[in-house]
Amino acid sequence: CCDSLLRLIKTPEEVFADMRTSLERHGFWRGEISSRSKDGRVISQAVAVSTVRDDDGEISHFVTVMAGLDSLRDDFVTGLPSRQVLDDRLAQAVELSRAGRKAVALLIVGLDDFRDVNETLGHRVGDVVLREAGARLRAIVTEPQTVARIGGDEFAIIVTDAVDPATIDALAEECLRALSEPFEQTTKTLHLTASIGIAMCPDDADSPSQLLSHANQAMRVAKGQGRNLARYFTTAMQAEALQRASIADDLRHAVAEGQLSVVMQPVIELSTGRITKVEALLRWTHPERGPISPAMFIPVAEKSGLIKAIGDKVFADVLEWLARARRISPDMAVSFNMSPVELHDEGARHEDRLRLLALSGIPGRALIVEITEGVLVEQNDITRANVARYRAAGLQFAIDDFGTGYSSLSYLQQLDVDFVKIDRAFVSGLPDSAGDRALCEAIVAMSHGLGLKVIAEGIETDEQRAALAAMRCDFAQGYLFGRPMPGDEVLTLLEEQSGRV
Ligand code: C2E
Ligand code: MG
Ligand code: MG
Repeated sequence: CCDSLLRLIKTPEEVFADMRTSLERHGFWRGEISSRSKDGRVISQAVAVSTVRDDDGEISHFVTVMAGLDSLRDDFVTGLPSRQVLDDRLAQAVELSRAGRKAVALLIVGLDDFRDVNETLGHRVGDVVLREAGARLRAIVTEPQTVARIGGDEFAIIVTDAVDPATIDALAEECLRALSEPFEQTTKTLHLTASIGIAMCPDDADSPSQLLSHANQAMRVAKGQGRNLARYFTTAMQAEALQRASIADDLRHAVAEGQLSVVMQPVIELSTGRITKVEALLRWTHPERGPISPAMFIPVAEKSGLIKAIGDKVFADVLEWLARARRISPDMAVSFNMSPVELHDEGARHEDRLRLLALSGIPGRALIVEITEGVLVEQNDITRANVARYRAAGLQFAIDDFGTGYSSLSYLQQLDVDFVKIDRAFVSGLPDSAGDRALCEAIVAMSHGLGLKVIAEGIETDEQRAALAAMRCDFAQGYLFGRPMPGDEVLTLLEEQSGRV
């Protein structure tokens, strides 16, 4: 290939002849020039030349701008080779491995929660962290291996020699360790972790694109399994990815054919033990596969945008149930989950929902919208307008899964929420874990200080209930009081509670 390429490149004489003609005719020339540097390397430069003429129209001088093409091929933030370079080297490595039966390993290193750093601390801090992360990786990865930055918070490492499990394991371990060291280059000490996906050629893939896609899949799995982990690509992962794709198809039918339903989980007031609210939770019973967890299908629905239509259905079901429940318990409220994708959607759909609410005669305050900390972090004009719409109609807001994200207290005040839901992860450690106890106490105290009520999620034991009651937590939800159940069953409980039965 190199011979034919060389034949396409012009001789210096030809290039200068071109340049002269163009400058005379158009006053401008642009092109690429290769030359040899002092240390013997061939370097390519992009060159632009313009003529400058004096008042008499005579050429007085030329202005030349040169840019090293090789530096354009480096990532601007980290100085590491860019995606383009990685693609080239990966293609080369895969080609060599095909020819010589030598293995290639590709590691994709993704920083966990990096987006939160960018969003909460700004892009400048984000860049500093990326640069440092890149430097740490470069210190580990030595020639002939390549480390490149391939996207927002992702790096890739190509290993072409000593591709044996022990070496790759050690390399992945070392990367994880290096990236979990605190980042002290910014005004704030940051603790980050990374997740690594590994795929091999020829074992897992036979083309660069397949290798990239499989290493990426493995990295997603590492993130899903708790982060700060390295995972090798497996064929089971591939099967699951395919299943996910088929779920996306099936979900479309599920909405049309009414396979989705909404169940209600009681929320009790800790001081009285009475059910004063419920949380509406989606259920999908697949005709062949049986029940599929919302944790599995909600992300798929978000990706395809179907979550918007699904959200409409949840809202309508919630109103219908509330109308019946309030005949038994006039103060009954329902909280329902709203995906960030819904909240980022323009207003029309939300207006439709609020019209439905007005028609029902149910007061807006009987509805609580559950959003996650991520929504607070990603606020924009659309989300703010939507929140304002619901607020104007009297709806209340709760922060779901509080404590698991990266949000700061100031966000709570900015969005002016009514409830904080302590995530099950902290409740499950009660009453024994001193750390979880301190966290729950702090969340309750802080929320009360801001005038917010607290709902604890996932209470399974009486000890957990007692510990939270002692902290003056306001509401509780969990298997101890009731699993998510068909709406009719909650109505029966409400009737029992109100002493009518
Ligand atoms: P979430 O909003 O945090 O809901 C609480 C989850 O904890 C529910 O899982 C509930 O069944 C479970 N749970 C409640 N009490 C206990 C307990 O004592 N122990 C344990 N181990 N688990 C408990 P589920 O129903 O599987 O829902 C999972 C997530 O899916 C929800 O988390 C929510 O984020 C999402 N989701 C559910 N329904 C909807 C919906 O209608 N729209 C949207 N956008 N998301 C939904
Ligand atoms: Mg929820
Ligand atoms: Mg939750």
